[in-house]
Amino acid sequence: MPGANNSTQLYLDALVWDAHAGVFPDPSVNLELLQAWPDAGADYVSINVGFDVMEWHETLATLAAYRRWVIAHSDRFVLVDKVQDIDRARAQNKFALSFDIEGMNALNNDINMVSLYHRLGVRQMLFAYNLGNTAAGGCHDNDTGLTRFGRQVVQEMNRVGMIVDCSHAAYTTTMDIISESSRPVVFSHSNPTAIWNHQRNIRDDQIKACAATGGVIGLNGMGIFLGDNDIAIDTLLGHVRYISDLVGTEHIGLGLDYSPRVDIDIGVILRSRPDYWPAGQQYETRDIKHAGPQHLPQLIDAMEHSGFTEADLRGFLGENFRRVAASAWDADQPEPAR
Ligand SMILES: [Zn+2]
Repeated sequence: MPGANNSTQLYLDALVWDAHAGVFPDPSVNLELLQAWPDAGADYVSINVGFDVMEWHETLATLAAYRRWVIAHSDRFVLVDKVQDIDRARAQNKFALSFDIEGMNALNNDINMVSLYHRLGVRQMLFAYNLGNTAAGGCHDNDTGLTRFGRQVVQEMNRVGMIVDCSHAAYTTTMDIISESSRPVVFSHSNPTAIWNHQRNIRDDQIKACAATGGVIGLNGMGIFLGDNDIAIDTLLGHVRYISDLVGTEHIGLGLDYSPRVDIDIGVILRSRPDYWPAGQQYETRDIKHAGPQHLPQLIDAMEHSGFTEADLRGFLGENFRRVAASAWDADQPEPAR
């Protein structure tokens, strides 16, 4: 390819895993928008089918709609069960995806919902969405820990085979999740507080505790979590560099939180619910910028120039999250007698 350099070749060749898309879930969303990821060279994304702002049955309705769409478009898209499905999809030039849920309101206080969601394609769940719920504390709310129900959910997620995701939860809740989980945990889309002080970002000891489980922290591409609505490549690089210096390159990944939706104004949604997106946290910012998968070739080039090795870059782009998923999704233990 004309003008191609090492990092371009590497990007084209590497597994590219985006641990979280930021599409506002709704059964009416046309999932043709997913094409933005393979068009940018990505191989897999986890897309949210619900978050705590929604009623639990709206999450189920969204999951039903998305699931049906993906199966109907199996010529291009693959709903993932195990990591081997992602390898197979790549070999067939198809794009792989699975679902995540942001917050435990989707469980309707019923532990039985965890295995149901798993069966329907949910492979990653978060405990809270900014505010506390019956399982966990949220990052924009009082700093509370996991409840008894929340601890049961961690165990059930470990059992059925879901990635345990600490993003959006309160500090104490994340530390409780990390000590409760028997498998690696992730912050799928959270940036370091040390670089940009935001309640959605995470402190050094959270990053260290996550890494100690074998987990991964995914780089969030939203400008207000990176800086003052700043998505400059150097800014992205600074966040990645900080985490890799703190805990090592095997714990960095991508969770860009990106949405290609042009039919909605994200700012209008954020300003409509000041309980979930409180004042003083930059949500009132006009024209919030967002780094998406289309920015990755430039970022990888900058990382290569700043000294990251090929193995580091492959880990960051996808192999690190693949390692966590291989462990988490392989659980498959029998139903306990009740
Ligand atoms: Zn999120």
